[in-house]
Order: sequence, then structure tokens, then C-alpha cells
Amino acid sequence: MKCKRCRDVAVIEIRRHNSAYCPACFITVFRNQVATAIDRWEMFAPDDRILLAVSGGKDSLALWDVLLEAGYRAEGLYLGLGIGEYSDRSAEVTRRFAETRGAALRVVDLRDEYGFDVPTAGAKGSRSACAVCGLSKRYVFNRAALEGGFDVVATGHNLDDEAATLLGNTLRWQTEYIARQSPLLPTAEGMVRKVKPLHRLSELETAAYAFLRGIDYVVQECPLVGGNTQLRYKEAMNSIERTSPGTKAQFFLGYLDRGMPLFRTQERPELQPCEQCEQPTPGRFCAFCRARAQILGERLGEPPADREIVRELSEEVLPAELYRVDAT
Ligand code: SF4
Ligand code: ZN
Repeated sequence: MKCKRCRDVAVIEIRRHNSAYCPACFITVFRNQVATAIDRWEMFAPDDRILLAVSGGKDSLALWDVLLEAGYRAEGLYLGLGIGEYSDRSAEVTRRFAETRGAALRVVDLRDEYGFDVPTAGAKGSRSACAVCGLSKRYVFNRAALEGGFDVVATGHNLDDEAATLLGNTLRWQTEYIARQSPLLPTAEGMVRKVKPLHRLSELETAAYAFLRGIDYVVQECPLVGGNTQLRYKEAMNSIERTSPGTKAQFFLGYLDRGMPLFRTQERPELQPCEQCEQPTPGRFCAFCRARAQILGERLGEPPADREIVRELSEEVLPAELYRVDAT
């Protein structure tokens, strides 16, 4: 097999493009895809301060590598979820990456800052561990970006993540969620811009990039992944992809070109500051504060309001900002 660009020996085959690349050309192609995503969606300017959500996994570290190599001002934010050895190893790998690259890294520990960790939340609250995990990430990243004066939050969501999310939302015709699934969520009142520069690249491609760049990342899966519904949609997409290479990209990138405009007529709900933490929310209290209060057995607001909140908690209430961070 020969490299499509330079005719040297190829090491990776991309079936959906019907092409193969040598290590150097693959790295170039990968970076070009990220650059295309950034340009096409006007994700950020060269001088913007980027807060990158890093988990220690291949996607976020590969993205950090690409952004730093391209000269962007990308600072990492690692959120400690308190998932035993898995979190310990993730934190260590992330810290080492930042040290070797001379990159700035912020660390927020969920238990230290907010009084709970993800396994406890899964056991105590009405939501699954993954739901609280995703909610906490969205909340903490936005809050840290606002408080730190960042222009944009970037995450390592790849094509597989996005196709799986779109499939899940489509199967249930969650049109509101479909309308907001985008590689770019613009700045809104109290919401920092969110971008997904890896959305054109598959999981296999980010793993190959991380490997070829010698990036040490956490290969072990989160022990709580069994509760992650997105995983089942990924498996379904992968099984179709095996027999029809390119389906995943056609599904998600096709949605961006042709499907998204059809759903865009939906209006966003008005946001106001949460009465507990002042982060934007469509209701009195934000979803994070409600979940946290339930996990810790605390009360929010006055007794009559509490009854209302408890009723709301039993429903699947997501914040207006539907940026999923639950599978990086
Ligand atoms: Fe969080 Fe992902 Fe683990 Fe679920 S599988 S708890 S979303 S890290
Ligand atoms: Zn709040």
C-alpha cells in the first residue's frame, strides 16, 4: 500500500476516503482537516484565548497537540471526576502532557469544588453517572471560561461522537437537541462560545494521530461507561460503517450541510441567572445546581419552590445549552 500523497509506504488506510498515508502525510492531512473545521466554522482567531477541555484521552490530547503546534493560545482544563484509578491515571497523563509541552493546565476537582464526585452522584441522584458527568463538564467548562476571560471553549468531540449523538437524537426525534447540535455554539448571554474542531475526524484517525505523534494517552475505558447510552449508538454506527465505509461521515457532515438548516427555525429559550450560582438557565435554578442539591440532599430556595424543583428533577431536564461533553 502506497501513500496517496508521496507514494512512500503507507501505514494507515482511510477506507471512507479510499486512501492510505505514510506517517508524515497522515499528520499533515489530519492537521489540515482540523484547520478546515476551524476556518469553515470561524471557530476562533489566532489571538483568541482557547480553553480546551482535556480528559487524558486520545481526542483531547491530539487536539491540544494540533492547536499548540499551530501556535494557538490553548490552555487545558482538566476536571477531576473522582472515578478512582481511572481519574488518577487521567490526571497524571494530562499533567505530564502539559509539562512536556510547556502548556498551561488548570485543574478543577468536582469533589473539592462542589462536594460530590461522579460515582456518588450516580448512586444517589435520579440521573445516571454519565448524565451527571456530562452536566458537570458543561457547567464547569463554561464557568471556568467565563471566570478566566477565555474567548472560547474547545472540546475533543470527534466524528464518531457527533454521529452517535445525532443518531440518538434522531431515533427519538428530539428536534430541539437536533437543532442545536453543531460544531460551533456561538457566544450567548453567560455562555462562552463552544467549538468542536475534531468533528471531521473519526475516532480511529485521532487514535492514529496520537500514536504517530507519540502522545501517551489513557487507553483504559471509564469503568462507568456501561451506563453510557451513546456507546450503543456508536456500536450501531460502527457496524454499518464496516459494510458501508463513509456512512458515519455522510450522516453527520450531510446533516451539517443539508439537515441543520431545516431544524434551525426553533427558538432558543430565554436565559436568566440561576438564583444559586448565577450561571444562565431557562428556569430559577440551573440544572447543575438542581442535580447537586439532590445529590447532597440540600434544599434550593424556599419550601414551595422546592416541591416544584423536585418534580422537575424527575424529568430529563437539560440546560438550554446542549453541548454534550460526555464522551471525550
Ligand atoms: Fe463520564 Fe464518560 Fe465515564 Fe460516563 S463514561 S462517567 S460520561 S467519563
Ligand atoms: Zn446554578
